Amino acid sequence: MARVGESVGSGHRLGRRAIPTLKKITEAFEQFLHGQKLRLTKQRLEILRLIYATHKHVSAEELYDRLHGDGRASALRISRATVYRTLSLMAEGGFVQALEIGRDRGTLYEHTLGHEHHDHMICIECGRIIEFHDDELEQVQARAIKRQGFREVSHRLNVWGVCARCQKAGKSGSGGGPVSAERGRDQAGD
Ligand SMILES: [Zn+2]
Ligand SMILES: [Zn+2]
Ligand SMILES: [Zn+2]
Repeated sequence: MARVGESVGSGHRLGRRAIPTLKKITEAFEQFLHGQKLRLTKQRLEILRLIYATHKHVSAEELYDRLHGDGRASALRISRATVYRTLSLMAEGGFVQALEIGRDRGTLYEHTLGHEHHDHMICIECGRIIEFHDDELEQVQARAIKRQGFREVSHRLNVWGVCARCQKAGKSGSGGGPVSAERGRDQAGD
């Protein structure tokens, strides 16, 4: 059985259940940082809070803007570099997933803990992200993993391509994928 949730650039309609408390997530993040010989600063904590407060796929720039639009957070004067660094740390520790959406749109992030598992189809023309879950696909994958004697911790499946709407509008996705993301600047706006 397949479930599909769709959004333009962001949004989650799936998986709002069984969310571990922010306290637990914060503790896990702190532990991860300790392992990296880093501290959980107020700035890092605020970024973690913010990304766990939204069920959307957000860019580093959006996060930066939100951190500066909010009175409490803006007092912390969190730099762009800190936002980017913290996001990549969180991705490394499995606290967020990074999604490259192609062309010059860059990367969107979503938090991972507490989300029901889902995979993504990413339109490289319009940036739409379709979230899907397919039991059959998951089972085939689980069998392939088992055959290798591999113990899975987590997985992500991202499919880059052209959504039905963009195909109808005659867009080909000839830009390729996230690899050629930098190439499409002059074509992206039409
Ligand atoms: Zn999956
Ligand atoms: Zn599209
Ligand atoms: Zn998602």
